[in-house]
Formats: sequence, structure tokens, C-alpha cells
Amino acid sequence: MDNNKPLMNLSRRNAIKYGGGFLGTGLLAAALGSNLNSPEPVVAQSEVNSEQALAQLMAGNKRFVAGKSKYPNQNLTRLQQVALGQKPFAAVLSCADSRVPVEIIFDQGFGDIFVVRDAGNIATDEEIGSLEFGTLVLGAKVLLVIGHEACGAVVSTLKGAEVPGSISSIIEAIEPAVATYKGQQDNKQAVRQAVEANVRYQVKTLEKSPVLSKLIQEGKLKIVGAYYSLSTREITLVS
Ligand SMILES: [Zn+2]
Repeated sequence: MDNNKPLMNLSRRNAIKYGGGFLGTGLLAAALGSNLNSPEPVVAQSEVNSEQALAQLMAGNKRFVAGKSKYPNQNLTRLQQVALGQKPFAAVLSCADSRVPVEIIFDQGFGDIFVVRDAGNIATDEEIGSLEFGTLVLGAKVLLVIGHEACGAVVSTLKGAEVPGSISSIIEAIEPAVATYKGQQDNKQAVRQAVEANVRYQVKTLEKSPVLSKLIQEGKLKIVGAYYSLSTREITLVS
């Protein structure tokens, strides 16, 4: 234990700062391990603000679009670090669609993004609770709500399709957002506008959460809407 003594005196920030360098993974894990009972997350990532967190996501998407992904934070060392605690810099509510893999389209890795997904990227109670946890407790600085091209949940809502089982609850959650575009499921532009209207609607729903709105007021969080194009792979912000 004597060998670890100096490490115990390192601040968490310094332990991280030097962790990738002379301390080495094993010693870093030992130093961080001493904080395991602390209520504070034990792995500190860059202390970014909301604007920087958003910029970090957008920069990752740019790399992905350009075919220049760096695949950061995806190795075993990173996995061992975040096993001790997480502090994601961003939270995302996106559609469960298999063509929208969040970490890939933003070129991020383990511990970077707190991701909540469901069909139609709808903000239901469980999703709101999860995102309150990801922001208030884990400290994500930006919350991105992502709709996407050719979203089946939105298209089905526009069609007024008869759907089996609990799928109808998804349609009900999207319906108020896209009423203007009802019946226009074959018009590509109308579908895009409906997807964006749904994103705005879900952002508004999230903003009604007292936990999230308090974080926004305190300048600790930004909620932003976005659209993902399957054709260009690009994320554009929805205002
Ligand atoms: Zn979808």
C-alpha cells in the first residue's frame, strides 16, 4: 500500500491529467479506486460547457461525414477507466432506428454520450427520467434530440396506420406534433418537416421537466433539436 501513498494525494483532476502518461493504467485505476465510495463520479472528462459539448458532437459528425472518423475512447484502457464511473459530456434522445447508431455518427466512444433511444425519439416519462439522470446526476452538458430521414414512426403517424399492440402509444406521442402534415406521408419534404416538428415538440416536452429547466436556467445545460440525414450522414440543427 505504501507504493500507492503519493497517488492517494493526487487530486482527481490531476490523476486523470497524468493518468495517460507516467502513472500507467494500473496505477491510475488504483488511485481512482480509492474514490470508489465517493458520491462524485470518479472519472473526470474534459470540463466542457454546453457550447463546447455541442461543438464536440458536431466535430465528431463532421469527421464521420468526411470518412475521417478517429474512433476515440474505444480501447480497453478507456473501458477500464469508465468502469470506475461515468461522466458523459453529452446526452442524446434519438430514434431506435437501426440506421442511427449514435456513437458512430458522432465518432465518440465509451463513456462519452448518455444515450436514450425509442421509436420516434419521443420524450415519455421514462425517457425524461433517464435524461434527468444523465444530466443532473452524471453531468451531461448538452442534450440533443435527434429525428431522422424516413422515420418509420413519423411516417406511420402521418398515414394514420392501424398498428398492433403497444405501438399505438408511440403514434399517440407523435400525433400532436405532426397534425399539420397528416396524410402527406408520400411527400418527402412534408415528411422531413414532420420529423423536425416532432423534434421541436419533444424538445418542448423535455423543457417542461422542472429538473431540466432548472439546469438550463443555471446555465448548466442546453437542449438542442437535430435532424440526421441517412443519405448524407450529416446532422443539422433544428431551430
Ligand atoms: Zn425513426
